[in-house]
This record gives sequence, C-alpha cells and structure tokens, in this order.
Amino acid sequence: MKYVILGGVAAGTKAAAKLKRLDRQSEVVIFTKSTDISYAGCGLPYYIGGDIATRDELIVNSPEKYAGLTGAQVQTGCEAVGIDSSAKQVSIRRTDGSSFTENYDKLIIATGAAPFVPPVDGVGLAGAFCVRTPDDAVAIRAYAEQNNCRRRCRRAARQSVSTAAPSRYPSAAQMAAALRKIMTS
Ligand SMILES: Cc1cc2nc3c(=O)[nH]c(=O)nc-3n(C[C@H](O)[C@H](O)[C@H](O)COP(=O)(O)OP(=O)(O)OC[C@H]3O[C@@H](n4cnc5c(N)ncnc54)[C@H](O)[C@@H]3O)c2cc1C
Repeated sequence: MKYVILGGVAAGTKAAAKLKRLDRQSEVVIFTKSTDISYAGCGLPYYIGGDIATRDELIVNSPEKYAGLTGAQVQTGCEAVGIDSSAKQVSIRRTDGSSFTENYDKLIIATGAAPFVPPVDGVGLAGAFCVRTPDDAVAIRAYAEQNNCRRRCRRAARQSVSTAAPSRYPSAAQMAAALRKIMTS
C-alpha cells in the first residue's frame, strides 16, 4: 500500500508515523510546501519572548532525522497543485518551478491552515505580522530587536495582556506575554 500525505507539520507527520507503525511494509511519502517539518507552533511565542534561544530549537525533527526514525519519506519544497482522484494521482510543483505527478493508493490531506488577515487599515505596514511559522517568529523577534520596540510599544503590550482572553485565545495571550517580555527586558 502506498500512502501519499500532503503537508508535513503536526497532522501530516503524526499520520505518517502511525501508518508506518501499523504496517512497516507500506510506502509512506510526505510532500510539504515549506522547508520545515514537525515544528512546535506552540513554541513560537517562547522563541519571540527569548525563552527559546534559537530557531533550531523550534524544529522537533529535520526531514532526515524524521525519515530515519519513522521510515516515512519526506520531500520538502513540494506543493500539491492538483489532485486527480479517479487516476489516484497528485500533481506536485517544486520550489524551483519543476513539476511531476505521484501515484497513490491512499491520500491524506494535512495542509493545515493559513492566517486570515482582516482588511483593516495599516495591515500592510512594516511591523504588522502573522504568526504561524518559525519564519514568522524569526521575523517578529528580529523586527522588535532592530526597531527598539520596547519603548514605543510597552503600554500596548500591557493592554494586550490584560485584554486577551486566555481560555479562548491562548495563542494571543502567549504572544502578548512574549512581546511584553522582550519589550521590557
Ligand atoms: C502561536 C501559536 C501557538 C500555538 N499553540 C498551541 C498549543 O499550545 N497547543 C496546541 O495544541 N496547538 C497550538 N497551536 C496550533 C498548532 O501549531 C496547529 O494546530 C498545528 O500546527 C496544526 O498542524 P497541521 O499539521 O494541521 O497544519 P499546519 O501546521 O498548518 O501544517 C500544514 C503544512 O502543510 C503545508 N502545505 C499547505 N498547503 C500545501 C500544499 N498544497 N502542498 C503541500 N504542502 C502544503 C504548509 O506549508 C504547512 O507546512 C499554536 C499555533 C500557533 C501559531
């Protein structure tokens, strides 16, 4: 049985590892758009706040390490751009622009989500970020450090901490706490 999995962060890597545990003989291939797999989204605020020092510490497994541990194959920089379910084929485009098709017996789509950006004034200005990936976290921390944000934004961060509702929006509360930390330290 050949399984193709699209997306290689939390859901895709968990599914692949489980499939290999259930059937060691199965072929399991993950195709994922980004360069990172298996990163800790919940760690992003802690990287931004400085508790996690380096980007590398956010990445649970490199593709090579993960493949060695589980037996699943991983191909990064590969975006699924089409699915022909009757032919059981998926079309993949590499970051270099080249493309190919891959056959499967079973397909798992674990492509996650992208942040919704509301159409509000100023959303395109420098200093407005989404926080979803390690690269986002790196960009936010670098911006805060390079622009000496603490003096200008300390009050806003304190307000964010007090107004975020941790039970409903834990990531927002973590982010506010992280920003407050780097701004006041
Ligand atoms: C700041 C923050 C804090 C969080 N804290 C927590 C927490 O404390 N506890 C918790 O349980 N969860 C937390 N989460 C949520 C958790 O990180 C997500 O639920 C989890 O990452 C979802 O994993 P996923 O595999 O479904 O999707 P994603 O993480 O979105 O991964 C999907 C992958 O698929 C790739 N992809 C997309 N389209 C394609 C395509 N067409 N072809 C190939 N690949 C594609 C994407 O590039 C991405 O790499 C947090 C998230 C954030 C941002």
